[in-house]
Amino acid sequence: MTNRPDKHDPASVAFATWAVHGGNHVDAGTGAVRAPLIMANSYALPEDPASMDWSATDVLTYTRNGGANQEALERKLAAMDGAEAAACFATGVAALHAVFFTLLKSGDHVVVSNVTYEAVWRLFAELLPERYGIEATFVDVGDLDAVRAAVRPNTKLVHVETIANPTTKVADVRAITDIAHAAGALLTVDGTFTPPPFYRPLQDGADLVVHSLTKYINGHGDAMGGAVIGSTELVERIRHDALVDVGGVISPFNAWMIMRGSVTLPLRLQRHLASAEKVAAFLDSDPRIAFVEYPGLASHVQHELAVRQFGGRGYGAMMAFAVDGDSDSQNRFVSNLRVITSAVSLGHDETLIVHVGPDARGGSESYPESFLTYGHLRLSVGLEDPDDLIADIRAALDHTELTGSPNAGS
Ligand SMILES: *Cc1c(COP(=O)(O)O)cnc(C)c1O
Repeated sequence: MTNRPDKHDPASVAFATWAVHGGNHVDAGTGAVRAPLIMANSYALPEDPASMDWSATDVLTYTRNGGANQEALERKLAAMDGAEAAACFATGVAALHAVFFTLLKSGDHVVVSNVTYEAVWRLFAELLPERYGIEATFVDVGDLDAVRAAVRPNTKLVHVETIANPTTKVADVRAITDIAHAAGALLTVDGTFTPPPFYRPLQDGADLVVHSLTKYINGHGDAMGGAVIGSTELVERIRHDALVDVGGVISPFNAWMIMRGSVTLPLRLQRHLASAEKVAAFLDSDPRIAFVEYPGLASHVQHELAVRQFGGRGYGAMMAFAVDGDSDSQNRFVSNLRVITSAVSLGHDETLIVHVGPDARGGSESYPESFLTYGHLRLSVGLEDPDDLIADIRAALDHTELTGSPNAGS
């Protein structure tokens, strides 16, 4: 018998087919071929509601516990990451908090990358230690001996980003999984910069992957969401504790929007990547650029790891660079851009840039020397024609007086 593809069976179809059809169904009431947006807060109760578990998440009762659009998105995302289960939250940070809140208790210890998303930094540097007695050690995840040395008998969790925001440090997920598991700890991986099909951390042994759906998976800069993806056992614990009883659920509308946006994820990622490679090569070649960090460049210290781990070229479209000047020069350069938009967030259709000073963030003292000298511009390469992006950067450089260069006179 030949292998017969079925759009409702992710194991039988390629990623791009699942991206189109995953989680969708024909609406029984109307025959609509796209699953409708269900904004209801509650669902019809069974005949004897007194026998129900009001915290149940396996039957639809109340939208904080789960809704139809959320369930469909979860089904789609779980298969995309090759996992059993997913739980969706209001934002990426709500998903990250849900993981930490569920898996950790007072007296536990966590090993965290010393370059990490701002909110994660603050959770582990301040909020969780001060309020709940959870201890954290921040380490350079590029140094596996340092990760090993940071582990303690009470280490319950190791948390890394596949590519760290904003320095683009790459975490070797397989090697760090081995260290975490040898210590009896779980590894949670923030895969926001490298969504599938670029990379599936669970296949390298990670226990949970977290995505900010706000970024590439929605991809259009118009909806927020987060997802925790992994085994049914872990995801259901997180859903039960943190979704039902903390309440950071995704809205049906955002789940519906992200379902729609994610249809084109594989197409968009191809274009993001191809354009990022061109833009990075241009930045690397222009003498007015002080430095550029992008895992796709051969000069990136972890380029080989990135090529190996992300299966050839899946190293994303996020980069950090600076023009060869002071903080005012970085700002003048940004204000001279005419295509690229100055705004936070990333993974949108439009190219976004944000100027981050050398010490604007918690943990920034562990940034590479170049970041400390110049600050940096975080660039999320979007879907515009890459030649327009390069022309925009070149023209902005031509129109920007670079002053106060740290390299002046050298
Ligand atoms: C944006 C981002 C988050 C947080 O996601 P929100 O949806 O903004 O809450 C977490 N991790 C990384 C790497 C991010 O870039």
